[in-house]
Amino acid sequence: ARRPGKDAMNQQAPTTLNVELGERSYPIAIGPNLLDDGALLDRHVDGGKAAIVTNTTVAPLYLARVAGALRAQGREVVEIVLPDGEEHKNWESLNLVYDALLKHRCDRKTTLVALGGGVIGDLTGFAASSYMRGVPFLQLPTTLLSQVDSSVGGKTGINHPLGKNMIGAFYQPRAVIADTSTLDTLPPRELSAGLAEVIKHGAILDADYFAWIEQNIGKLVAREPQAMAYAIARSCEIKADVVRKDEREGGLRAVLNFGHTFGHAIESGLGYGNWLHGEAVGCGMVMAADLSARLGLVGAATVERVRALVQAAGLPTVAPDLGIERWIELMAVDKKNEGGAIKFILLKPLGSPSITTVPPETLRATLDACVK
Ligand code: NAD
Ligand code: MG
Repeated sequence: ARRPGKDAMNQQAPTTLNVELGERSYPIAIGPNLLDDGALLDRHVDGGKAAIVTNTTVAPLYLARVAGALRAQGREVVEIVLPDGEEHKNWESLNLVYDALLKHRCDRKTTLVALGGGVIGDLTGFAASSYMRGVPFLQLPTTLLSQVDSSVGGKTGINHPLGKNMIGAFYQPRAVIADTSTLDTLPPRELSAGLAEVIKHGAILDADYFAWIEQNIGKLVAREPQAMAYAIARSCEIKADVVRKDEREGGLRAVLNFGHTFGHAIESGLGYGNWLHGEAVGCGMVMAADLSARLGLVGAATVERVRALVQAAGLPTVAPDLGIERWIELMAVDKKNEGGAIKFILLKPLGSPSITTVPPETLRATLDACVK
């Protein structure tokens, strides 16, 4: 694979990567003001109409630009605006999408265009996988988290009252077009939440990238466009490489859950929406690094590097006190566990993963040390 570094660092031209999945391969374009590039957008809307799915927050910011750019190419455009929020990633919203598609007589050549963060991307992708047994799907991610993580890899779906992301499908988009200028309007907490997944990619799979993030974290928090474009490109490249090797999470893809076993416990223990997912993952990575050190897989200096970087990204590093027994209970229900034992993604060393079960007393020591 071509490294994105040079293009992304030297100029503001879009960087293009490819997710290699045989006949389901697709490009990722990353750069400023791509939402205005009608020709680029239209290239991935072959044949029929474009139905843009977005929400009430993103629509006033970007919908007219995308719809206008496509209409200027002669494309018929349907606009579908959903309520904003993780609590609306459900059947009701999905049905609103189907209703609008049918009402506008959208056929199986209609391309569904997801304009928004991970909630819109996941829901729209699932709608695309099921409407008329599958229609083309284009991702226009507008949060950092969706640009570095959720728009790549083909996991789509909605929540069920009894569990997050429980209804869904693997369905790859035709393309991902990440307009880095959209990050300018993102609330700071959402930006930091996206940086958690950026740090994760370095920590678990690329120590050099981790060091680059350490050196550039100030620029990333300040949304400096060239640093941001490089981080998005390198993160997409790392995730795309994992997905290429393990599209349906047979094994390797699980390493992307670094920090998530602890993070999911924080999210469900505090009640969803209290901490953002990325905040919980940031703290969870500090805890996973601590656990790695207790097992002798990394030294204390590595734990401190992870903690310092998570903190510099504007993320919490001290875990909430849920009670040790409750903590263990919450981690045990994580859906990735098989046969009862909790599997942890740990560092061995920084930049490479080790998947292992852990002695209960070691886990308790980490919880004692990290919880306040
Ligand atoms: P989100 O989609 O809820 O977006 C966060 C907030 O930012 C929302 O209020 C949104 O309306 C707003 N927003 C979006 N773009 C904006 C912009 N440019 N300017 C200002 N505001 C903007 O949250 P998210 O963090 O992007 O995604 C989280 C979702 O992604 C979760 O549902 C999670 O399950 C899913 N996810 C999926 C995968 C996957 O592989 N499919 C991976 C990670 C996360
Ligand atoms: Mg995550």
